[in-house]
Amino acid sequence: MDKARNRLRAALVSVGDELLSGRTVDTNGAWLGRELARLGVPVARRYTVGDAAAEIQEAVAGAAACAELVIVTGGLGPTPDDVTRDAVAALTARPLREDAEVLARIQELFRERGGSGMAAPNRRVAQVPDGATKLANERGTAPGLAMEHGASVVVLLPGVPREMRGIFRGPLTALLEARFEGRLRPVHVRLLHTTGIPESRLAEEVARCLPDGTGPVDMAFLPDLRGVDLRLSASDMTGEEADRRFEAIEKALQGVLEPWRYDAPGGDLAEAVSTALRASQATLAVAESCTGGLIGKRLTDLPGASDVFPGGVIAYSNDVKVRVLGVAGDVLAAEGAVAGPVAARMAREAARRCGAEAGIGVTGVAGPGGGSAVKPVGTVWYAAFLRGRVATRAAWFAGDREAIREQAAQAALFLLLRLLDGRETPDP
Ligand code: AMP
Ligand code: MG
Repeated sequence: MDKARNRLRAALVSVGDELLSGRTVDTNGAWLGRELARLGVPVARRYTVGDAAAEIQEAVAGAAACAELVIVTGGLGPTPDDVTRDAVAALTARPLREDAEVLARIQELFRERGGSGMAAPNRRVAQVPDGATKLANERGTAPGLAMEHGASVVVLLPGVPREMRGIFRGPLTALLEARFEGRLRPVHVRLLHTTGIPESRLAEEVARCLPDGTGPVDMAFLPDLRGVDLRLSASDMTGEEADRRFEAIEKALQGVLEPWRYDAPGGDLAEAVSTALRASQATLAVAESCTGGLIGKRLTDLPGASDVFPGGVIAYSNDVKVRVLGVAGDVLAAEGAVAGPVAARMAREAARRCGAEAGIGVTGVAGPGGGSAVKPVGTVWYAAFLRGRVATRAAWFAGDREAIREQAAQAALFLLLRLLDGRETPDP
């Protein structure tokens, strides 16, 4: 076998009629692809099949022919349409036997939950193919099952994403480390988040700072509506060495990235804003027009949001801008709702009326209608207020309604972050 073919690869089989009809999106396949990539095991092929034994067998056989690791998700439950266990047991010629340990655990789970105890169909979940390794499921009844099949390992996991992930991260990773000893190539990753700079320009500036490239470190640009992430990754080295190399690259890029960069372990700028608010003992209130609550949503997605976010106003109509936020009617009449003084007033009044030290105001034309020659679709005015001072900016965002709103929310959050960091100057 040549080297490329000797490389450890995986193939995935997602089972479920609902995946084919589109009622459920195959998030398991995407998640497993990412997790396996982190272990240095690329996914070579993915199959999606319905709840039919013959289809499942054909897919598993095909997967095993091209990859040493086959992971099947779905169809392990107690209902008659769950046929994965039986189909794979038959394919691998392993008789099914009721496993006393699994059965006892299921019965105990049902006792704990109260009610009338275990319903008869659940007994099926305790069937284990002869010689299969059980992978404990802390979050549900059906354990994962791993078995040798030819030169491959075939692993069956429940379809419920939470259960599948728990088993993968726990007992399955341990099993893979043992079974493929020395052949996993863990990938070390560092993400550098930027917003407000187009991908092409970022790529140009990065290339200028790193004329000799990045050596064994891979660099990828990952753009979305909110910004561009720079992904550094390296394998075949220790975590310490990877950190050292990432550090050196970050240092070389520091000057270029500084105006655009933010740090957030979960990736969301709202997280960076929350952290900065905590650090400067400030709370934030919002007044959102065209973003319709997007900023508030992102802030409240974070656990513990109430420490820094008292609330805000969705000031969509002019009437609410005037009556709830006290935007002067004559300013609205003279400038229209999409204007700097309106955004500034919204930010300031949101803070004042909610008793917060900081405020954000956003007003813009999200389209598709409502644009004009002077204020075309995509025109957004936004402002950030902090302890008596306000910074007001305008932007012209491209894209559809969703794109404009996402970019507006991101730009407003970033403006506030930079005020909090002392890197942005308020209006004169
Ligand atoms: P099952 O194990 O087939 O009984 O599936 C249990 C639940 O997990 C169902 O709600 C499925 O829709 C869901 N599910 C199954 N496979 C997937 C998948 N590949 N991605 C996301 N959800 C899934
Ligand atoms: Mg199913």
